[in-house]
Amino acid sequence: MPAPSKPDAGGLSIVVPIYNEASNLPDLHQRLTALAQRLNKKRPIAVEVVYVDDGSRDNTVEVARKLPAENFDLQLISFSRNFGKEAALLAGLDHARHGAVLFMDGDGQHPPELADKLVALWRDDGYDVAYTAKATRAGESASHRLAVRLFYRLLNWGVKYPIPEDAGDFRLLSPRAAAALKQLPERNRFFKGLSSWIGFRQVRVPYEPARRTHGRSRWNLRALIGLSIEGITAFSTAPLRLASLFGVLLSLTALFFGGWIIFETLFYGKSVAGYPSIIVGIMVIGGMQLLMIGIMGEYIAKILSELKGRPAYFVAEHEIRERQSAGKRGPREAAE
Ligand code: UDP
Ligand code: MG
Repeated sequence: MPAPSKPDAGGLSIVVPIYNEASNLPDLHQRLTALAQRLNKKRPIAVEVVYVDDGSRDNTVEVARKLPAENFDLQLISFSRNFGKEAALLAGLDHARHGAVLFMDGDGQHPPELADKLVALWRDDGYDVAYTAKATRAGESASHRLAVRLFYRLLNWGVKYPIPEDAGDFRLLSPRAAAALKQLPERNRFFKGLSSWIGFRQVRVPYEPARRTHGRSRWNLRALIGLSIEGITAFSTAPLRLASLFGVLLSLTALFFGGWIIFETLFYGKSVAGYPSIIVGIMVIGGMQLLMIGIMGEYIAKILSELKGRPAYFVAEHEIRERQSAGKRGPREAAE
């Protein structure tokens, strides 16, 4: 399905997943146009922007079709339905025609102005992965911050190459890093994790995400829990190890408790009230078993989904427009 790629190691593909971003798109597009101009001023660099419409329900696609391709080539990929942001990022990577790939959100929260710095880190300093991370989480609730902490603790538990905390999807990959990312075969993708797992020279760039100008974030608690489970099952087997840990703890407790009962009966002549202790015991063990079966189920579901090997997305339409100043105008290729 990926577009035939002419290898161009020096160029930059900017991948932007868009889902119901009609009101944010024109502004972002303008800022990207300015970005391409700035980048070219420093030294000539071929830029393309790849918009991946993730099955938007509003008029995002119509808006995107009318955008001018002034300082860069423009690709517009529309999915057959909503496949989720991770799939959109993958499609962007698959279709990118330049070596280096910059990923950024389509809602304006990832400022294109920061991209200058990311590009400089790649071109001038030789970094392979320049990833941005939230400088502070001051604006977020304490419970959210705690949940994020716990998530990364669990994710990185006993892992040799931990996934950096607070790192976002806004990142630039050098040609060799992007090529490495393309080689990873899994369909259930956790992009941030994968792009740190590949290694190479990585650098953290702290930044303050802008507020959304229009619309709302699509992430609700359920979606975030879903992504967390996705991330953890994709990278860590720590939850499976929990089962053994709980088992040992429970057995030890039972051993001491049993010993205590025998001791009490022999020396104090006390007999334990049977009913409550049995019920508590059954409930603790039952709950623990169900929890562990659930965790195993998550991993089995992952295996099943990888085994089925379904494509992560379907492209309904694919349009490539060459840069206007290069002389060509209008759609060159329609539908795939
Ligand atoms: N997005 C997408 N598919 C989805 C949900 C979101 O492609 O199913 C895109 C969305 O258009 C935006 C980016 O992913 O460009 C981040 O989404 P959002 O702003 O909702 O997430 P947040 O900024 O809260 O992480
Ligand atoms: Mg956002």
